[in-house]
Amino acid sequence: MLKGKNAVVTGSTSGIGLGIARELAKAGANVVINGFGETAAIEKERAGIEREFGVKAIYSPADMTKPAEIAAMIKTAETTLGSCDVLVNNAGIQYVAPIEEFPIEKWDQIIAINLSAAFHAMRAAVPGMKARKWGRIISTASAHSLVASPFKAAYVTAKHGLAGLTKTVALETATHGITVNCISPGYVWTPLVAKQIPEQMKARHMTEEQVKNDVLLAAQPTKEFVTVEQVASLALYLTSDAASSITGANFSIDGGWTAA
Ligand code: NAD
Repeated sequence: MLKGKNAVVTGSTSGIGLGIARELAKAGANVVINGFGETAAIEKERAGIEREFGVKAIYSPADMTKPAEIAAMIKTAETTLGSCDVLVNNAGIQYVAPIEEFPIEKWDQIIAINLSAAFHAMRAAVPGMKARKWGRIISTASAHSLVASPFKAAYVTAKHGLAGLTKTVALETATHGITVNCISPGYVWTPLVAKQIPEQMKARHMTEEQVKNDVLLAAQPTKEFVTVEQVASLALYLTSDAASSITGANFSIDGGWTAA
């Protein structure tokens, strides 16, 4: 389905991004993977994608807080692979604290990685997509692009912003064969969620089990974590020709969370 197409997936050394990169590669796309981690582990994933799916996979260490590195990553896709046809803005971090204790540097970092990075990547990728009259931009937003939770000021703000950015760029590119959408998962069991459990325990004075059941899954009517595979298959669908009329949309995949 994506044979001959090239995809850049930010924050794809782990969790949802890695799942999406693998799903796009499985469908035939060459991929640029990006994110932090141990060199050997990243190389194992990169080489594994090439071997398993018979595509090219390259690694970009671009730091999503650095606009010049983001632009260079898109350029690398265009020069090394030939184009950036699919852009998945997925890199994201979380920090949980009450507003009056929220560290200023965490606010700045979350806005940079979870929101501004998508702006810089779209800004760099859209000219090539327009020239080729085809493009797919998908951003991993969150249920927190639609509703709020306490103690997540920066994350909720960034994700609401990402949903707005998605709609704006969708309107600007609508006649150019480009679609721009976001996916808004509820709680997906990934390192990002596992990592926030101690912070939630501290902020809410709760045990680990209480945080899992009474805080995280309390919001999710299905009482089950969303899986990485479910998010990745929705992303793949959004790259398909069948989805060419879907643009500016925000897809909830949250076990009913935002229906409440
Ligand atoms: P994760 O921690 O497993 O992965 C995050 C990825 O982003 C990693 O590859 C990491 O190296 C990368 N990253 C972090 N900072 C970076 C930087 N400065 N530059 C480049 N890469 C950087 O997290 P995840 O749960 O897979 O989250 C992926 C996305 O999904 C995030 O945007 C997150 O907000 C969103 N999301 C996650 C959930 C969930 O429940 N896990 C729910 C809704 C939305």
